[in-house]
Amino acid sequence: MKFALYLGSFKNVKVFIHWTFSLLLLWIIISNSRQGMPAMDILWIVVFVLALFACVVMHEFGHALAAQRYGIQTKDIVLYPIGGVARLEKLPEDPKQELWVAIAGPLVNIILFAILSGVLGFTGFDLQNLEEIKISPQTIIPYLASANLILAIFNLIPAFPMDGGRILRAFLAIKLPRAKATQIAGGIGQFLAMFFILFGLFNNPILMLIGIFIFLGAAAEVSHTQQESFLKGFKVQDALMQKFQIIGIDAPLSKAVEKLLNSQATHFVVVKDDVAVGTLSRDEIILGLKEGGESALVENFANLTPMKVETFEDLNEVWRKMAAEKRKVALVVENGHFLGILDQENIAEFVMVKSAMNRP
Ligand SMILES: [Zn+2]
Repeated sequence: MKFALYLGSFKNVKVFIHWTFSLLLLWIIISNSRQGMPAMDILWIVVFVLALFACVVMHEFGHALAAQRYGIQTKDIVLYPIGGVARLEKLPEDPKQELWVAIAGPLVNIILFAILSGVLGFTGFDLQNLEEIKISPQTIIPYLASANLILAIFNLIPAFPMDGGRILRAFLAIKLPRAKATQIAGGIGQFLAMFFILFGLFNNPILMLIGIFIFLGAAAEVSHTQQESFLKGFKVQDALMQKFQIIGIDAPLSKAVEKLLNSQATHFVVVKDDVAVGTLSRDEIILGLKEGGESALVENFANLTPMKVETFEDLNEVWRKMAAEKRKVALVVENGHFLGILDQENIAEFVMVKSAMNRP
């Protein structure tokens, strides 16, 4: 994770905090001290914000641990100033599992609310203390309790891809195909996001940011789910490219440049003694030219640990893996024999062709 500070891990899930978070704390400190707030009061606000984000981490762990029960790992949890994100390696396809994974986050906030309210009942807290908005050792727990309730309610708004939207999608997907369910939930999400943006524009810039985030997130997930539903049932061999350009591992980059300019290819298969050993992309060629010039060898700039996939592998899974590892191309083998390449762009083309033909 770039630009993020590693905080620690629990049950194999790493937690990071994004650098922009420091801006939030800095803003709290500077804006309040300019208004002449005593240092001790500012300190309590900072403590409150940190405690609130600890609750957000627990919310994300709710999702991560629920997913773990279904054998789905979480790459990491990253905290941003507008909230946390648990990056699951994939989402459960079974609607009932998705329902549990989505609901587990807000459920954590409801439990935290119950516990914190319980503490308040125990100490005989007087709600009149909250009349003046000021965080202090006496008021921090009631504020945290209400913040957890707000977090739970806010996340349950059915604006896909927020938790409430995922719950809605899961309910719809029990009866409808997943792509259709996503389309409906995404549409409702975008509609609600517009309200967030409009309302936020005049009242609260953070709400506006969240609205934009929901709007773009909904669009991305709808197209992603559509792509997945088109790829369903296909194998790697269906999208295999058997025409490709090769380049010798001991060739100079000038040779690669020549091939690049004379063909449509943006990727080359690197061969050594007639065996495919790696890939060389346009970006790698450009980097090589910058660092070593035209006479630099392919060997020094090619990717010699390429992703290798078998012809019988599920195209959807492979596509997902390539996206997760940011691989644009993979070598396809069958019983150890190299057959051709699989190219992300080519998979996208494959989807376009299949959807145009309206696959039976
Ligand atoms: Zn959540």
